[in-house]
Amino acid sequence: MSGEKAFQILEKIFEPKHKEKIEKIKGYTIKYGTIKEENQIIDEVLVSYFKAPKSYTTENMCEINSHGGIVIVRKILDLCLKNGAELAEPGEFTKRAFLNGRIDLLQAESVIDIIDAKSEKEAKAGIKQLEGSLSKEIKEIKQEIMDVIVKLEVTIDYPEYDVEEVTKEELTTMLKKAKTKLKTLEKSFDDGKIIKEGIRTAIIGKPNAGKSSLLNAILKENRAIVTEYEGTTRDTIEEFITIDGIPLKLIDTAGIRNAKDEVEKIGIEKSKEIAKTADLIIAIFDSSSELTDEDKEILKIIKEKKSIILLNKTDLKPVITAQNEEFKNLEQNIIKISALKREGIEEVKEKIIKMFKLKEIELDNEIVITNLRHKNLISKAIKNIEKAEETIKNQMPIDIVSINIKDILENLNTITGEEVSEEIINEIFSKFCLGK
Ligand code: GDP
Repeated sequence: MSGEKAFQILEKIFEPKHKEKIEKIKGYTIKYGTIKEENQIIDEVLVSYFKAPKSYTTENMCEINSHGGIVIVRKILDLCLKNGAELAEPGEFTKRAFLNGRIDLLQAESVIDIIDAKSEKEAKAGIKQLEGSLSKEIKEIKQEIMDVIVKLEVTIDYPEYDVEEVTKEELTTMLKKAKTKLKTLEKSFDDGKIIKEGIRTAIIGKPNAGKSSLLNAILKENRAIVTEYEGTTRDTIEEFITIDGIPLKLIDTAGIRNAKDEVEKIGIEKSKEIAKTADLIIAIFDSSSELTDEDKEILKIIKEKKSIILLNKTDLKPVITAQNEEFKNLEQNIIKISALKREGIEEVKEKIIKMFKLKEIELDNEIVITNLRHKNLISKAIKNIEKAEETIKNQMPIDIVSINIKDILENLNTITGEEVSEEIINEIFSKFCLGK
């Protein structure tokens, strides 16, 4: 429970063993006792106390640790409600921490990233953001923009000091500096997206090329972590796997896995569709038989995309090789494997690491943007800086420059949550689970 009445409500239902009054109990302590309803003991519990402002929400807070189970927990919850507590909305604790000013919006959002993290790197990025590394960077840029505004105001308010020319040059330099920093952040989203969403990977190939076997080889060999969830398009299942920290989001593997029943459905059209939304295509060919028309179609599809070509079944007598006319100009992306014997899988991994420069995603020294909302606002701020630069260049009145620059500040304030609509706040916190 959190809030003004948290302790009052607690006192009605909880009796500490030594019957201390709430005023005597210090924050950050745990008391042993019983939850009671009309003198009847419901459970033996431990209660932790956090006194305002030193708590997660900055309000008085207490946490009741019961033995658990469904009946007892439900009963304790009902008792709290009966005595005046209200059920928390999703993310309400974190929302209060934000609204009460203990953390900014960026930090609040990182909490959900940490909870939802599917890979260690993602969790690490979340922790860094919670610690405030991104907030600090944005704050610094904001300060620089504030400095620009102050300079401008002086010029506007005291036009008799004919300083415009100097000021304009100075302004341009200041804006450029802020822009460089924002561009670095914007660019970090390339990595951030991979960290958060994984590399959207499609494994395509004609029936019997070895798609399922490849997947099994990857899953078994590397003890991958698999998370299955509904895909972005209807009827698809997406799986998030991390192989040695490489996050891959396999698209539509449901279809691929059931290839045997669905041979008909996995036509070229479907492959084309899947390929459209993929960051990476792994195209698999059976090297023990001639290329079919379907194979050739697949080769056409992947020409436009980042792709890896696997010549599978190298344990059998080769009929096609990398030297085949059809593979011209694609040689550097060809890897020979045997999905059955699990040979060459390591090489595939190495290739992906190289292609996406995964080794270079270093979270220790740099700040990585992982959230699309932040990225969009940063892009907007950059656009507004460019607008301001343009206005200055075109010798427009300084008041107009000032308007552009205030827009930049507004974009940055929306990131950290100082200027953000209730609607957006509600949307952000609705993604949290209860009790967070
Ligand atoms: P999919 O239809 O593309 O998913 O193909 P599967 O993975 O189901 O494989 C089709 C058949 O090829 C199965 O009988 C596999 O055992 C066999 N197969 C797959 N990979 C290899 C391989 O590397 N070597 C050999 N000899 N057979 C393979």
